[in-house]
Amino acid sequence: AERVDVVAVTGLTKRYGRRTVVDGVDLHLARGSITGLIGPNGAGKTTIMAMLLGLVRPTSGRGTVLGHDLSRPGDYLSRVGALIEGPAFFGNLSGRDNLHYFARLGGHNRGVIPEVLELVGLQGREGDPYRSYSLGMKQRLGIGAALLGDPELVVLDEPTNGVDPAGMRDIRAMVRRIAAQGRTVLISSHLLAELEHVCDRVVVLDQGGLRYSGALQDLPGSRAEVILLRGLD
Ligand code: ATP
Repeated sequence: AERVDVVAVTGLTKRYGRRTVVDGVDLHLARGSITGLIGPNGAGKTTIMAMLLGLVRPTSGRGTVLGHDLSRPGDYLSRVGALIEGPAFFGNLSGRDNLHYFARLGGHNRGVIPEVLELVGLQGREGDPYRSYSLGMKQRLGIGAALLGDPELVVLDEPTNGVDPAGMRDIRAMVRRIAAQGRTVLISSHLLAELEHVCDRVVVLDQGGLRYSGALQDLPGSRAEVILLRGLD
């Protein structure tokens, strides 16, 4: 049987007035894979994610998400989980109680909460107030909230931003566990080095354009070094 990618879009483009912020990007995400969307600030990472999530309407481009037309996000969004910015949680409530609130809000089965807490590595700390969490733990709780609906596609916009190295390791381990369950992960960062050991593939963007797409090990060494050490400038 033909394998159908969870995300299969071509020529994804967004213009604001005369400014092109995403320029003809192709994106193919295989089921269960982890893809890093890498690029400096302003490269267009958030805009690409927002187009997949139906928050921004593409100027042009076509394709499917979970088998449904990209132009009809209402048909697939219930199967997608997203962390766009640090979500708003109640500081005085525990991580677990915050998840209870979001599960109720989203109409999700609250029985999944213990499993989600384990998946995001917050077991043992779930009873502590949210305000006592490190930034990395806060991000993982946000990702936990995105997992409550058992999504097949998980979109994470810069979850490692500002997180210390230990917190980053925890986020990477969590992303691996999420993908090992067969979920497809798209994760962005402005630093390839943060994601290089967790991604199956990387999509490198600069000023809206695609600069490289594929496995990191297929990148010519000198080029990989430039991107890893100095970015694209
Ligand atoms: P960051 O890491 O800063 O979030 P990014 O790679 O996610 O960067 P985007 O947020 O997608 O980049 O923004 C890409 C470019 O598009 C930026 O230059 C931004 O100013 C511009 N842009 C985004 N939204 C709009 C909008 N609504 N109107 C005009 N320009 C916009």
